[in-house]
Amino acid sequence: MATSVSVTTDQAYQQCLAPDCGATFDVGEVLTACPRCGSLLDVAYDWDRIGPPESLRWFEQKWARRNEPLCRSGVWRFYELLPFAPPEKIVTIGEGQTPLHVTDGVGRYIGLHAGKLLLQYEGMNPSGSFKDNGMTAAFTHARTIGARRAACASTGNTSASLALYCCASRLMQAVIFIGSGKISYGKLSQALDYGALTIQIAGDFDDAMQRVREVSEQLGIYLVNSVNPFRLEGQKTIMYRVLESLGWDVPDWIVVPGGNLGNSSAFGKAFHELHELGLIDRVPRLAVINAAGANTLHQLYNKEQIRWNDGRPDSAGVARYYAQLDSAASKADTIASAIEINRPVNLTKCLRALHWCDGVVREATDQQILDAKAQVGLSGFGCEPASAASVAGAKLLREEGVIAPSDRVVCILTGHQLKDPTATVAYHTTDQDEFNRVLGKRGVSRAAFANRAVKVDNDLDEIVRAIQLNS
Ligand SMILES: *Cc1c(COP(=O)(O)O)cnc(C)c1O
Ligand SMILES: [Zn+2]
Repeated sequence: MATSVSVTTDQAYQQCLAPDCGATFDVGEVLTACPRCGSLLDVAYDWDRIGPPESLRWFEQKWARRNEPLCRSGVWRFYELLPFAPPEKIVTIGEGQTPLHVTDGVGRYIGLHAGKLLLQYEGMNPSGSFKDNGMTAAFTHARTIGARRAACASTGNTSASLALYCCASRLMQAVIFIGSGKISYGKLSQALDYGALTIQIAGDFDDAMQRVREVSEQLGIYLVNSVNPFRLEGQKTIMYRVLESLGWDVPDWIVVPGGNLGNSSAFGKAFHELHELGLIDRVPRLAVINAAGANTLHQLYNKEQIRWNDGRPDSAGVARYYAQLDSAASKADTIASAIEINRPVNLTKCLRALHWCDGVVREATDQQILDAKAQVGLSGFGCEPASAASVAGAKLLREEGVIAPSDRVVCILTGHQLKDPTATVAYHTTDQDEFNRVLGKRGVSRAAFANRAVKVDNDLDEIVRAIQLNS
């Protein structure tokens, strides 16, 4: 791509993740793949020059300076662990004010001892999903190179986040590519409301992803999909906040839904770096949960046994799998629209994260996801369907005995409940047609925790009787 400005902070660079290549590039270059070999890129740091903090407790001094934007942001108060841009270029809108909560109701549902299940509630971000952690970092990079337009293909939340950062910062115009498959109205409404140019393609997410890469290349538009390595730097901080909330203790498990696999990749990098820097003494185990209707990672990891393999994963095996998908004309299909992705762009990075974190992969059915979502709702942390895959996956791993009842387990709730009210209402509805229309064809046959509206005539006695009968 044409844009290349030297903004080097002297301490950060981009590096190809393939060990046989390992080419490095200035952070001022706009790249979404290694120009030499096509592999994914990492943002890497010259830690010797940076001199990172000697302990994670060092970051606590920032709490006393909360009125400074870079200390208030839950991403940038960890600036010293992602110093790829000069501080004056940082674009922040106060992202990352997200809590970690012990949630015993959900813990019992999973089968954990009291106090052992924690929910990291990323729905609390400004645009309602974890994507803001990455967008603030991508915008900061875009600003350092002077980009005027930014684009993404999205199942919804990346576009909502991009649109919000564009209108809040007034630095760039947002161009959003969506497929014609599922996109929840909560998310689409955000993009439209925030004024993004929205291009709807007659195709699915994987088609939109392909096109946005071509178009941004051709028009020199800054691409903010999670192939953008700077986004993942911001998403590392979700794990820093988890540690911060635990008094810098490392939990036993991090459980996260897997779509394009950017989040799981970022989490692995976060822990690997902290461990290399001597800031933690062990890494947690990582569980990545696919939806059964979009289960590429599960198929490749568990059935084909494909592994990171020192940076040489069996790419022929992966290609064979995709060829099978193509010849069967198989399309991703799940109620969890945010993870309805069959060709995860960060697959290799995620395999590396699974290697670093002794990881496991599972798939959860839409039935399991929606039942788990209802349990999350009952606990007071409503989430969208994709997020509940983490809870459904933790339950499966507990039942298998992979997770022990005494393990400390953190499930990431990636997006807010109000992102996708259609799925929630259909689950709880009394209307069988509506239930079947939204849920039935995805193999959801029963809503185990449905909270049905009680229908009564407009009659005082009937209403009183209904309340007495149901409370
Ligand atoms: C994007 C998204 C995911 C998937 O994350 P990846 O990094 O693409 O694996 C899961 N849940 C929600 C709510 C999302 O918006
Ligand atoms: Zn390379």
